[in-house]
Amino acid sequence: MSAPETQPRNVIVIGSGPSGYTAAVYAARASLQPLVFEGSVTAGGALMNTTEVENFPGFRDGIMGPALMDEMRAQAERFGAELIPDDVAEVDLTGELKVVKTATDTYTARAVILAMGSGYRRLGLPGEDEFSGRGVSWCATCDGFFFRDQHIAVVGGGDSAVEEATFLTRFGSKVSLIVRRDELRASKIMQERAFSDPKLEIVWNSTVESINGTDRLESLTLKDTVTGETRPMDATGLFIAIGHDPRSELLTGQVDLDDNGYVLVSHPSTETNLPGVFAAGDLVDHHYRQAITAAGTGCSAALDAERFLSELD
Ligand code: FAD
Repeated sequence: MSAPETQPRNVIVIGSGPSGYTAAVYAARASLQPLVFEGSVTAGGALMNTTEVENFPGFRDGIMGPALMDEMRAQAERFGAELIPDDVAEVDLTGELKVVKTATDTYTARAVILAMGSGYRRLGLPGEDEFSGRGVSWCATCDGFFFRDQHIAVVGGGDSAVEEATFLTRFGSKVSLIVRRDELRASKIMQERAFSDPKLEIVWNSTVESINGTDRLESLTLKDTVTGETRPMDATGLFIAIGHDPRSELLTGQVDLDDNGYVLVSHPSTETNLPGVFAAGDLVDHHYRQAITAAGTGCSAALDAERFLSELD
């Protein structure tokens, strides 16, 4: 491990999704020369795993997820953000000077913006990632529109699965909610909504055994959890709604988190419990989880950091 740099940075951004890059654009334009840790594997964040993004304002014909992230990255660099394609392995954010470590180097800064996002839980099936954006999705708000008049399957039994399934009946010819057990975990009111929706069928005691297709999802194979029998389902859309986990392991014991590990901020600001530490995007937000809302809070975090630093000077 090399010695820390002698001069602390103004601001370090951890994460490179829409929230991290937007924070970097704003901090760079405020002449704060932000240092951004992008992550070693998934620089660009969740949208690197999708195809068309049709709901990010400014692109009337839509834009491919990776192209949108390339634009954000280039915009941050244009104004002087320094980007490092590495993972932050450890932080000490409790002191006045924040310490951020990778596997090999140590950096310090007067302010830190946390923008590590959250990960959607996966079924762990072959084809799941390859067909992401090609029939398989984790976000009904983002992708429901692409599945007009198709048979859509949704996996999960909690509130968000039922909410996604109900929302998707606006688009699909039919929506099948695939539930592992013979009951839903969703709240009573959500269940009633689901039971009374004529376009929504609930497939009890079933799991997805395989995702089938060549270039995109063509069908599913389901397995009965009671009899073990398998059967085909002709769905051409699969929404996986079995939860998501914030990437907040680094912060445990320092930054206040809610029961599910999301960073707590004092809304409407992005301030955490630690002075000089701000948080944005899906690491905080388990409700909206959109690129534009992540970008919006990334902007707020940079403005909050800028104000914090100017009060120190
Ligand atoms: P993320 O995009 O998750 O980025 C976090 C980044 O932080 C990642 O690059 C990660 O590698 C990095 N990171 C994490 N830990 C560390 C660490 N220790 N060190 C360094 N880096 C780290 N939203 C829409 O608005 N429209 C859509 O069409 C849409 N489609 C989607 C399709 C898919 C398949 C998925 C998964 C999501 C989609 N979303 C869409 C949701 C949107 O992508 C997210 O809401 C948004 O990306 C969240 O941004 P973020 O910056 O908070 O986090």
